Parts: sequence; structure tokens; C-alpha cells
Amino acid sequence: MRYFNKILIANRGEIAIRVMRGCRELGIETVAVYSEPDKNSLHVKYADEAYLAGEAHPSKSYLNKEKIISIAKKCGAEAIHPGYGFLAENSEFARLCDEEGIVFIGPSYKTIEKMGSKLGSKHMVSSAGVPVLPYTTDGVRSLDEAKKISSEIGYPVIVKASAGGGGIGMQIVEDESGLEEAIEKGMRIAKSAFGDETVFIEKYLVKPRHIELQVLCDQQGNRVHLYDRECSIQRRHQKLVEEAPCPIMTDELREKMAESALKVAEVSGYYNAGTVEFLYSNGEYYFMEMNTRLQVEHTVTEMVTGIDLVKQQIRVASGEDLAISQDDIKLHGHAIECRINAEDPLNNFSADPGKIVRYRSPGGPGIRVDSGIHMGYTIPPMYDSMISKLCSWGFDREESINRMRRAIYEYVILGVKTTLPLHHAIMNNSQFIEGKTHTHFLTEEHVKKN
Ligand code: ADP
Repeated sequence: MRYFNKILIANRGEIAIRVMRGCRELGIETVAVYSEPDKNSLHVKYADEAYLAGEAHPSKSYLNKEKIISIAKKCGAEAIHPGYGFLAENSEFARLCDEEGIVFIGPSYKTIEKMGSKLGSKHMVSSAGVPVLPYTTDGVRSLDEAKKISSEIGYPVIVKASAGGGGIGMQIVEDESGLEEAIEKGMRIAKSAFGDETVFIEKYLVKPRHIELQVLCDQQGNRVHLYDRECSIQRRHQKLVEEAPCPIMTDELREKMAESALKVAEVSGYYNAGTVEFLYSNGEYYFMEMNTRLQVEHTVTEMVTGIDLVKQQIRVASGEDLAISQDDIKLHGHAIECRINAEDPLNNFSADPGKIVRYRSPGGPGIRVDSGIHMGYTIPPMYDSMISKLCSWGFDREESINRMRRAIYEYVILGVKTTLPLHHAIMNNSQFIEGKTHTHFLTEEHVKKN
């Protein structure tokens, strides 16, 4: 079964190619869109057809909703896969697709809208009995009220943009004296980055783990989870290393967290693939948000379950029932993903775009590389600095780490600075090897190293 004849992929780089690979395996034709600087990119070459969407700036190309929809209509694509980033969580785009009779490969625009508000989604899931951290139930309205609530919650607290994403604009507040400035700054950043200045306050956990659950749901109300991922190793609140399953998971905790994740999917009327993110500390877990798209780190879940999430997304988007039941989904082995960014880890992760003058990709048992780069490729400065995802699978966590080390040794990327040396250090770090990570792992362990 092909589900669709032709799908347009509204993205670039490794994720565009990842989605096209799924389409090709299903016998579905693929359509790429690209910006001017991307005209010679791999995703353009990989697709069956490719069309210029516009100039370099994302607003003119990868975020240009009308243009992308008009390309889809002109070339006869029946569905659009948004990948992650760009239009993936844009409810307006999903609604426009509906109006034009094009299938948006993701949940309904109503669900995207509901989950796009961190405040709204916290209300919804907490009333369904899913644990959340104490928070201000409304956006911050006055300093006096914020002070009162923060002292009730107990410092430290964190000021967050309700419409936020990408770790942007979060302010940690140690005591009352820092509250006013944090709120002002948070609102300013929220307004300019997301066009919505609503901020709220929640309890700040000092060294939590970030644990997330992958869910997959069809439009008939069948829902399964594909276990957990540990994503605590982060820089600037963004993930750098992910693994599946979470190394500290017990059967009991997994059962509870999976139940909560499926509850979140149920109350939000969720369909397609999605991720429910939790913070975990001292045996307790708290819902943080739901990402209504395919995640960067879906790879590690695919490696430990053997299930191709992109093909499943396409299937449920076509209206078919889920092909798999919870009992079909078994965990096998352990997988790790290292995000290879064109960044200088020794200089505050500043981006280092430029030309790749030498490139050799690793291979061999248990290694998966999803990348959009090649020898002679010039990384443009205006897009995401993540250029490749290096993943390893092992029969157990130890083998997965050993394979990752070996693959890092084999991986040659010259011409730009990358996070490869940092990943090498992480794979050799005794705390990491013991599975003792938390969201400040990188700051603490990295500082010690340098
Ligand atoms: P975004 O949507 O901007 O990515 P999230 O709400 O998903 O933001 O949070 C990203 C990261 O920020 C988390 O993985 C965690 O490291 C940190 N974080 C967020 N909220 C809290 C909190 N209440 N306590 C401690 N850390 C937090």
C-alpha cells in the first residue's frame, strides 16, 4: 500500500532526506522545495521533483505557507510532510492545508493550536490528572501577584514564554530580587520571538532529567507509545545527546509515564506521531509540554523498536488504522544519538558555518548517519547549525557507547568546527557511562574538562 502518490516535503537538510527515504520505500513520489542558497543541496537532488520556494530568509522560502501550498497544488502532491522546525508546529499552515484539500502529515490544526500554548496545555493535562510542576495558572499580570505566587511556589522559579520553543527566553530566578527583571526580559523576548508576550512562572527544578515518551495515534482513537528517551544532555536548553531507552527507567516508572503520555494524547485529541516531554527529579515526573511533530531524536526510538516512524506517520495521515498494537512494540537493545552541529563547543557553541573540505562518514555494525552534508558542501549561515545525526545501536548500553566512540573516531568532517570532539569527551565521561546525567551535565562536566 502506498497511501499517497506524491508527497511534498516542506523542509531542508537531513530531515527532508529522512522523510523522502520513507516515501521512496513506500513507492511514493517526492517533491522538494528549496531556498536560493539550497539549490544544490542533497535534499533537492534526492527528490523526484524540486521547486524553488524563494529567497534565503526562511520567511521567504521554508516558512512561505502560500508559496509551498501553491507548489503542492501545481505539482499534484496530495500531502505535505513538514519535518521539524519551520512549519511543523504552525497551526495556521495545517489549517490552510485542510482548506486546500491537502493532507498535513501531523495532528489536526486544532490540536497543534492547543498544544502550542504551554500554559493552555498544562491546564488541560493537569485537569486530566497528569502531574505538572506548580505554576501560575494565568499569564503574569502584575509584579505583586507574581511575587506572591512565586513565594508560594518557592524559589528558584523559572519564567517561561507560553508560546515558547527552542529553549528561547526562559529566565531562572533565584530569589525575589531578580523577579521583576526576569519577567520584563522574558516578556520582551517572548514578544519579539513568538509575537505573544504571555509569560508564566513555574517551579524550577535544580538538576532534573528530561525524559520523553514517543506516542503514535491514528484518527480512529487507537493510541500506542514507543517507550522513552533520555534527553538530559543539553546546551542552552537544547538537546545534544539523546538515548533510548532512558537508562534509569524501571518497569513501574515506565508504566506510569506511558499512561500519562497516552492520557495527554487522549485529552488533546491527538493523532499522528508526537512526543510528550517530562521533567524527572527524585522519583517524581512532571509534564512539561507536548511536541506535535516528528522529533530530531526519533531515530533512537526507531533503532530500539524497529518501527519506521515516518512510514507510520504517512499511514495514519492517510486515514488508515494503526498497523501495530501495543503488544507488537518491543524494546530491543539501546541506541544513542549525537547531534553533530557546525559549532565551536569551546567558544560557547558559536555557529561555524563554511565549506566542508574533507568528509568521511562512519559505517559498520549498528551505526546510522542521517545527514544533509557532503564533501565540498557549504553550510549556509542562516539555518540550523545541526548538520548530521550520528546514531549507534548496541545489544546493551555499553555496546552502544563503545560503537558511538568508534564511529566518532571514524567520522571525518574538516573545514568547520563541530561538536564531534565534545561528543568524544561525553562518551568517555564516567558520569555519562554510569548513566548519571541531568540537564546541567554539560555545563558542570564541560567546565571541569577545560
Ligand atoms: P522549549 O519549548 O523552549 O524547548 P521546554 O519547556 O521544552 O522549552 O524546556 C526545555 C528545557 O529547559 C528542559 O529540557 C529543561 O532542561 C529546562 N527546563 C524547562 N522547564 C524547567 C523547569 N521547570 N525546571 C528545570 N528545568 C527546566
